[in-house]
Amino acid sequence: MTVPGAPLATLREPSPDEASRWHKVRNNPVAVRFKFLLEFLLEEPTIRLVKRTDAATELVADPGGGMTLRLTLREDLIEARVGPYAVEQGGEPLDRDAFLDDVSGLIEVLQLGTGFYVFSEELVGFDPIGACPACGLEVFEWQEECGICDAVLHVPRPGEDEHDSRAQRVVDVLLRREMLELACPRGRKNVERTVASYYAYAGTSIEALLGVLIDLADVAEVYCDEGELGRVLQRVR
Ligand SMILES: [Zn+2]
Repeated sequence: MTVPGAPLATLREPSPDEASRWHKVRNNPVAVRFKFLLEFLLEEPTIRLVKRTDAATELVADPGGGMTLRLTLREDLIEARVGPYAVEQGGEPLDRDAFLDDVSGLIEVLQLGTGFYVFSEELVGFDPIGACPACGLEVFEWQEECGICDAVLHVPRPGEDEHDSRAQRVVDVLLRREMLELACPRGRKNVERTVASYYAYAGTSIEALLGVLIDLADVAEVYCDEGELGRVLQRVR
């Protein structure tokens, strides 16, 4: 859970240590990228401009459900914070998982518009995963297609199908973010097969999958709950 007051996510250019081998700084300056991004965002009926100074531009996005997201665009970074929220009388209680799923869609737009990396404890699916085979642009976990040239990004290897290929990326995220620990590295294939079956057989619940993972001999420990696992399964393409 994010510390109160701390950003839910920060987007910025990665440092040389953080940058993947596919990273290239974009040709147009950040100010130009921000200008196009703002024009695009302000056409959205759910996003409004709150304040604009020389130092920063503040927006509020209201995806519905009573929670808002505040966006602050500064010189060379964007901060996203959970904004003030209200529960309507007789309304459903706030569901943070649903909110995080909603705002993830908006963060995708910010990432595509800037090429920035997303630094967040709670949001998943934004790490670099490779380069577009057609245009070379760096691409991120949530992308199925390149944002610039629309090339399809994931082509399964011979003998594997789309579920196997997606499951490999999911297990990669689970291990990298320490949401899951293997009993031994060789067990990884089994875990991938289990996740692939989740995608292959519609109707399997996330709860059931979590139960199976916990019981697998190849898994030493699972450090995530249903909501967190669900977010990875949904976000990683
Ligand atoms: Zn491309």
